[in-house]
Amino acid sequence: MTTFESFGLPPALTAALARMNYTTPTPIQAQAIPLAMAGKDVLGTAQTGTGKTAAFAIPMITRLLASPRGGALVLSPTRELATQILDVVQQLLGTRSTLQAVLLIGGDSMPKQIAQLRGRPRIIVGTPGRINDHLERGTLMLGDTSFLVLDETDRMLDMGFGIQIDRILKFLPQTRQTLMFSATLPKEILAMSSRYLVKPERVAVGEVNKVAVKIQQDIVHVTDGSKYDELTKQLKARTGSIVIFVKTKRSADRICIRLSKDGFKADTIHGDLHQRKRERVIQGFRDQKFRILVATDVASRGLDIPHIEHVINYDLPQVPEDYIHRIGRTARAGAEGSALCLISPDDSLKWRDIHKLLYPNEPAPPVQRGGGNSSGGKSRFGGGGYKKSGGGNSSHGGGGGGQRSFKPRGRRFGGGSSQAA
Ligand code: AMP
Repeated sequence: MTTFESFGLPPALTAALARMNYTTPTPIQAQAIPLAMAGKDVLGTAQTGTGKTAAFAIPMITRLLASPRGGALVLSPTRELATQILDVVQQLLGTRSTLQAVLLIGGDSMPKQIAQLRGRPRIIVGTPGRINDHLERGTLMLGDTSFLVLDETDRMLDMGFGIQIDRILKFLPQTRQTLMFSATLPKEILAMSSRYLVKPERVAVGEVNKVAVKIQQDIVHVTDGSKYDELTKQLKARTGSIVIFVKTKRSADRICIRLSKDGFKADTIHGDLHQRKRERVIQGFRDQKFRILVATDVASRGLDIPHIEHVINYDLPQVPEDYIHRIGRTARAGAEGSALCLISPDDSLKWRDIHKLLYPNEPAPPVQRGGGNSSGGKSRFGGGGYKKSGGGNSSHGGGGGGQRSFKPRGRRFGGGSSQAA
């Protein structure tokens, strides 16, 4: 088994890992760290929750500690993810390090960031928009960046950051080391990697386009009219923290208010909220002040909240890949989790696309039409439902009467090559 000792890390990092209780490298760390420490560019496919932050942060810090010059830039799609990356970096640096790291994200005070940049931090973590702002104002220099990380690159492209990234990369020297991570590898990502990486080594944990292991996935067929009642029924049947994904900011607010009126402790997070409010909500959820978080897809990536037990897809995502990102919020770092989809007839085409992404070699579920198939909030196995693919009933008994598992029990999702089952 690979150990952290075998990487020959600087003592400060070894001590930090002990403080953080990281005893054994996760599979992505075991694969990526030696390559990155050898100076290679790396193209990594890893889902969230696999320990990929430390997989790039450890070699990044090692490299910076080895030389008095050179900086590192980490680009991340969301403010929350950037904040979490900075947190891991700071834990790895410890309080006595001479290396300074700064967070450059939108919604945060510009004068504060400019003041921090005057201290010439060697590690910059941020979102593309704000980093471009600083570059345009001349408050950020990236000419000595020797280490670049593009994290959750597929998500950055989905969010329309492609042009911003291209713009930022013009400020970086050609000679540098680049690590690029992505949960999925569509052709745009491969094209980007051939633009920005030099002879990258590929590392992967889990198959691309598959969900993490240990997630029990269930579906319930509903009508639009029965959806909310089914949701409350499912909430009552579950213990622990739950993230409910919805389509729009407005429906996030509406469902949150309705749940609160119905006696559930819930809060909401979406892109319209100010950064400070978002942070407050996430902290409250992390501290378990409330157990139900209603979120849009903006919040679906990068949140590292270890205690999420369930993800409920109240609305299916617009983009099939987002399903994987959403349910990656649960079952993090080897924990077990569950994901439930409420599928109304309108959603069944989207569901078919998601199913196709997850199981390209299996028959697609039939599309339900016209809403005539479900009634009264009871979910369906028969009529319109598709053939049950295994012996799986819901592991969360008490939930919707017709709830079904589409993952045969015991079968591993994603078949993470070296990931613990
Ligand atoms: P990440 O995928 O980087 O967001 O990491 C997911 C979770 O795994 C975080 O809570 C990390 O603190 C934790 N983690 C990462 N690497 C290790 C490790 N080697 N040992 C234990 N926990 C880890």
